[in-house]
Amino acid sequence: MAEQQEDVEIAVAGMYPGLINEMTRNFREIMGREGRREALVREVDILYRSRVEGFAKAEAEAGRLACGAGCSACCSQRVELLESEVPDVVRAINRLGGAVRKKVLKRLRRQARLEVATPDPEQYREPCSLLDEAGRCLIYVARPTACRKAISSNSAHCQAPGTVQFDENPSLVAASLFSTAMEYARTAVLLQGSLPRPLAGALLESMR
Ligand code: SF4
Repeated sequence: MAEQQEDVEIAVAGMYPGLINEMTRNFREIMGREGRREALVREVDILYRSRVEGFAKAEAEAGRLACGAGCSACCSQRVELLESEVPDVVRAINRLGGAVRKKVLKRLRRQARLEVATPDPEQYREPCSLLDEAGRCLIYVARPTACRKAISSNSAHCQAPGTVQFDENPSLVAASLFSTAMEYARTAVLLQGSLPRPLAGALLESMR
């Protein structure tokens, strides 16, 4: 197992840094353009989501995904929603039938209280308010990027969501690392200039 993990780590190390650099460059390019900040942020998020989905699509096409309709093992953890995703999710909830929408709103109110009461994601284990009785997402097409990145090649790994699991599939390990790094890069780029900078320039600027 240790040997296999080492092989996977080597494979991932080869895939990962180039992708992060490329995406950070893309994010910076978008945020450096003229335009309304909200529109630019949305563009950054769309790009982020499309890369996350790209991993899932490639894995599904290669027949390596264990994910499927009705498997909601990853839907009982704390989900973070990007600000730019809120309108789409609200629209999707409003499109649900009256009684379902009412039920969802009631569950969301309870969930909001639990989110405040349990701020530690490791401790949070509540089913999402947007799950139906069959374990399907009621707003699947509009689901957040955080949900899109939860892909697995081994459903046994999903039974303990939130814990770090070794996946024998290098592409999925890379996808998971990539998504986490993308969140940092996205946040840093949106905060403008808070990404690590080349040593000399950063030092000299602060010593002027
Ligand atoms: S939004 Fe949908 S996919 Fe995401 S956690 Fe909730 S039910 Fe699961």
